[in-house]
Amino acid sequence: MGDPIVCFSKNGVNFMKILFRHFLKLFIFMPCLMMLAGTLASDENHFRVESLPGVVKQGEVYLIRVLGPASVKPIYAEFRGARFPLDLSEPKGAHEGLIGIDMDTPPSTYEMKIAKKDQGRDVPLVQLSLKVEKTDFGKQILTLPSAMVDLDRKTLERVHQEEKRLNGLFHGFREERLWRGAFILPVEGELSGAFGFRRIINGQPRSPHTGIDLRAKEGTPVVASNSGIVVLVEAFFFSGKSVIIDHGQGFYSMYFHLSETLAEEGKKVEKGSLLGRVGSTGRATGPHLHWGIRMNGARVDPLSLLKIRTHPENLFQQ
Ligand SMILES: [Zn+2]
Repeated sequence: MGDPIVCFSKNGVNFMKILFRHFLKLFIFMPCLMMLAGTLASDENHFRVESLPGVVKQGEVYLIRVLGPASVKPIYAEFRGARFPLDLSEPKGAHEGLIGIDMDTPPSTYEMKIAKKDQGRDVPLVQLSLKVEKTDFGKQILTLPSAMVDLDRKTLERVHQEEKRLNGLFHGFREERLWRGAFILPVEGELSGAFGFRRIINGQPRSPHTGIDLRAKEGTPVVASNSGIVVLVEAFFFSGKSVIIDHGQGFYSMYFHLSETLAEEGKKVEKGSLLGRVGSTGRATGPHLHWGIRMNGARVDPLSLLKIRTHPENLFQQ
């Protein structure tokens, strides 16, 4: 998988400024969000897509809102072979869900399908085209001690095993939606590493940064960004002491480089539950939290998930 995980803790920028900038962007694009992109599929099933921008960007999360008969369910959005469930939002009768665009989705125009499950069959309701635009993630040049980069055979084997385990986890799918309402920031900290950097370490191109780094003092509490089940508590070579939560419907959040873990595998956690404390375990150059999000395997920017709570008519607002 080549997951993240060089993290660093310098050159911090004010997190609130970043969030504010995202909010402004959303405000500007709101009229676009409200433009309808769907077409009717049949006389019986009058579905239309009410909110999904016609143009989306690599590594972002978007809200889909589909209007149609409440009696037709379950429905889902299918994008590039991955299914994103849409839940019925009472009392308005809208079906809502989130879709994640993986950071490496090639920029192009794709067909997206809204469909229902009917006696084991997939029945298309709405087809729309979705244009994915390139995100300029930027580049990061790092110099690290060679022992952290040039790994011996035994360590490489360990790293491969850990990647395999993580990949297996992220492609699991729990039908039940365990998360409720807006996602929250898991730690009070400054953004010290943005999502998606293409990294050059000691002159070699390496895997991109698939989460965000939040710099905070060693020992600062780290909490669950939303409700779910703890599916991993482990010390890994790159990510150090790590916790991963399964939020259901293919949605995972990860919390890396902790100084201590205070969560238990298999246990349910609520939004805001204490998971551990900020540290610099694994490959890290200072205390910070690496926070990552996966949606059906798609690597997405956690900040784009946070901004969804600003949508005024949002099921996930509660
Ligand atoms: Zn990181």
